[in-house]
Amino acid sequence: SPTIGVLAVQGDVREHVAALTALGATPRPVRRAEELDGLAGIIIPGGESTTMSRLLGVFELFDPLRDALAQGLPAYGSCAGMIMLASRILDTRSDARHLDALDITVRRNAFGRQTDSFETDLDFAGITDRPGAAPLRGVFIRAPWVETAGPGVTVLATVPPGATPDTRADGRIVAVAQGPVVATSFHPEVTGDLRVHEYFVDLVRRS
Ligand code: GLN
Repeated sequence: SPTIGVLAVQGDVREHVAALTALGATPRPVRRAEELDGLAGIIIPGGESTTMSRLLGVFELFDPLRDALAQGLPAYGSCAGMIMLASRILDTRSDARHLDALDITVRRNAFGRQTDSFETDLDFAGITDRPGAAPLRGVFIRAPWVETAGPGVTVLATVPPGATPDTRADGRIVAVAQGPVVATSFHPEVTGDLRVHEYFVDLVRRS
């Protein structure tokens, strides 16, 4: 079973570890650069991206992780993890660093104050389009959305019209993939539905 890291400097590490264990992968919490050695993939959890960025510096993990991603390490980022993987970030602190592994522009806290957290059912390409598959429950917590995606990026899910009272959210991109890198604005790790993690573990096995 593939060893998959979970970046463990901040955020909801435990939920991702539990999901990987349930799928028969071998999770490894990563706090030190040496713990990147031999990984088949890595998950960057939800949390707070500016704090995560700062702690990656403190733990001397930023450069080794960015280099591993540049060399093709498969990765899945959820919420703050999506922000960390992005190439461009809107509405963030000027000193926050990011890993530049996905050709997307992400807007932090995009859904605004009134609907800053919400849930909705989603269509997810490669998951809910299988015969008989149920929709995927998206749990959004002060989530980003993808403002623009480069030509090499595949859109996997968008916000269904009417999911929030704010029509500006309708149709926004909330899940993407580019090669071996996947990101979601929402938190599948809190729902007990393992299909997004399964999607990532399958991607790791094929990489
Ligand atoms: N708003 C957070 C950030 O900017 C992300 C929230 C989350 O991961 N649930 O990093």
